[in-house]
Amino acid sequence: MVMNVVSLAVKILQSGGVVALPTETVYGLAASMRSETAVRKVFQIKGRPLLDPLIVHMLDYTWISEYAHTDDLKVDVKALADAFWPGPLTIVLRKKSIVPAIVTAGLDFVAIRCPAHEIFRKILRAIRVPLAAPSANPFGYLSPTTAQHVRDGLGDRVPLIVDGGPCNVGVESTILDVTADVPRILRPGAIPTSDIAGVLGVTVMDYSPSTGPAAAPGQLKQHYSPNTRLILVESAEDLSSLIGSAPPEDVAFVYLKRPTEQVHERNIFWLSDGGDYRAVARGLFEMLQTLDKSGYNTIYCQKAGQDGLGITINDRLTRAAAKFVP
Ligand code: AMP
Ligand code: MG
Repeated sequence: MVMNVVSLAVKILQSGGVVALPTETVYGLAASMRSETAVRKVFQIKGRPLLDPLIVHMLDYTWISEYAHTDDLKVDVKALADAFWPGPLTIVLRKKSIVPAIVTAGLDFVAIRCPAHEIFRKILRAIRVPLAAPSANPFGYLSPTTAQHVRDGLGDRVPLIVDGGPCNVGVESTILDVTADVPRILRPGAIPTSDIAGVLGVTVMDYSPSTGPAAAPGQLKQHYSPNTRLILVESAEDLSSLIGSAPPEDVAFVYLKRPTEQVHERNIFWLSDGGDYRAVARGLFEMLQTLDKSGYNTIYCQKAGQDGLGITINDRLTRAAAKFVP
């Protein structure tokens, strides 16, 4: 019998298995939220510590009241859902007891989002149960933005990898905690803080690395890392002066936008043609994944400006480079 990939994924998920699925942000490793055994497999396959909670994926706003409290909030979560769902905004709410402790690492709070990728949505429509899903990569390694990245990283540990093409957004969701008096960003992501504040009409506390692990479990200083040494450079000019007249061949140089000179060198790369941060974000993990497999000794990468999506790009780059900082 020939079964389409959506039905196959649903069947595996319903029988307590895990599948890798495309989302608009990065590829996810999904398990039914209702199966503790399946969720445990997700942690095992990734090598992820049980203290690092998972994001729960739902079809739309109407699903959330079954799993989280929305009636005692100071902000208008419905307005957020209307503005950003389906899409890369994760909202942290007080959980209901139906959400198993393993999903939230024992916290009283659950992180919820509605993914936009049509394949993921078809699966949610068919299975009618939320899916807990972190990124489909070995814990600590670069996030996967293609099915091939998932195959490279997790390969035969996952029974089904659904290929939905390259991820359109390329960086993870923004995580917003709305349970306190002032909403605050726990992880910078695809949606800039100012867009969220604009919808809510209130001040939103920006992400700060010093908020610490208690507030944002799993937000490690070192994360998303390549194996190849990664060094960050403040500006395009700094990168150009590093390259000089005879760039060493075993070093890769990555600009945010296509440079006007030196483009003939084989080891010079750029993340976008014109410097648009959405294009940079889309290509960021893809570029690092590719360069990490290309045998370079060192990758030098230009940082973005600290505004809008540039904050998210720099957050990922800084964590990726953290293990190489002496
Ligand atoms: P990812 O590997 O992209 O799935 O990252 C999931 C991240 O979401 C975790 O590492 C946490 O930082 C955050 N997160 C998930 N659930 C919660 C929660 N209940 N409260 C606060 N942060 C959460
Ligand atoms: Mg991850």
